Amino acid sequence: MNLNILVLNAGSSSLKYQVFDMNTQQVLMKGLIDRIGEAGSATVHHQAALEQIVAHLERAQLPIRAIGHRAVHGGEAFHDAALITPDMIAVMREMIPLAPLHNPANLEGIEVAQRLFPNVPQVAVFDTAFHQTMPPVAYRYALPASLYEQQKVRRYGFHGTSHQYVAQQAAEYLGKPLRDLNLITLHLGNGCSATAIRQGKSVDTSMGLTPLEGLIMGTRCGDIDPALHFFLARQLKMSLTDLETMLNKQSGLKGICGVGDMREVQRLADQDNVDAQLAEAMFTYHVKKYIGAYYAVLGEVDALIFTGGIGENSARIRALSCDNLKGLGIELDRSKNPVSTQGIIECQTVTSRVKILVVPTNEELAIARHTLSFLS
Ligand code: ADP
Repeated sequence: MNLNILVLNAGSSSLKYQVFDMNTQQVLMKGLIDRIGEAGSATVHHQAALEQIVAHLERAQLPIRAIGHRAVHGGEAFHDAALITPDMIAVMREMIPLAPLHNPANLEGIEVAQRLFPNVPQVAVFDTAFHQTMPPVAYRYALPASLYEQQKVRRYGFHGTSHQYVAQQAAEYLGKPLRDLNLITLHLGNGCSATAIRQGKSVDTSMGLTPLEGLIMGTRCGDIDPALHFFLARQLKMSLTDLETMLNKQSGLKGICGVGDMREVQRLADQDNVDAQLAEAMFTYHVKKYIGAYYAVLGEVDALIFTGGIGENSARIRALSCDNLKGLGIELDRSKNPVSTQGIIECQTVTSRVKILVVPTNEELAIARHTLSFLS
């Protein structure tokens, strides 16, 4: 039976796609169309990008059974993946103010896909959905209550599809039901976030109203004093737009040492560049602080999970992040700490109370699985 699922990730200027055969979970086709709508680019909008993909599919004679869309912000409306219907699109539209950069592109991708594949069921999988189980103590900000009640200002968290996927993979690997596990998952890629998972459910996560809060990232600042805004507005006459750009695009690793890519940071650090050394040290210091915080939230932890481009590939980042946590029962065995991995690796010492796992993430496969679940 044809179980080909097309996974679409429509960003503001790019469209990523993968086709999975869910009989085998193999990738049949994948690609990226970027620079959509940019000057000099042949691809003027998502419609043109998706038409290119349809042409590839026709050439390869690949029929599509269902489509899974990556969607960034589901607000409080979506606790799970959702079948796309006109009502559901209307709700997503109401969510635009919460993610003005991402949700319009996601919606455009959905609408174009509905035009080009009118008879194919389509599902949206939200980055925020897994974190909807957080309790109010974790998701509310200490702000006037009306801001939550009227504007829905609260912490939502992101990367949920990845945190949930690696947690499930870890549970399978450990041979236990996910509902019996307490986990701290660390998604360290260009964007970075940590999640506390109690009995299989997200109870706290480091990203907030937007993906700017929490850990230090490639170009995003993570946690800062909100009064910084007033200081910079007064002292440097920075506008809100200047601040938004600086905190999202010129901060994080890039702000500290000039480069936002961790491999570059480490290369410079190895050449005795003190700014790069500081960037790597600050990055792992903040990861360690979140491990400590989420340990306290959970009380007991079965496993610490590293994923994302940095979490999966940098033994050094894992070692620095776990350094000196013996008191918490977290002990990394450097001889088992892999440089890079295809599958799941365990790298704690024999005496470590907490398992330390490296679990490769696969958000596209996770979206395909969520989509498949609507077909059965
Ligand atoms: P995204 O969040 O955009 O999906 P990735 O999860 O691929 O990105 O993570 C990208 C980050 O992973 C970059 O900072 C990159 O330098 C880092 N990375 C990839 N491989 C390594 C490695 N071997 N050592 C250190 N960092 C790495």
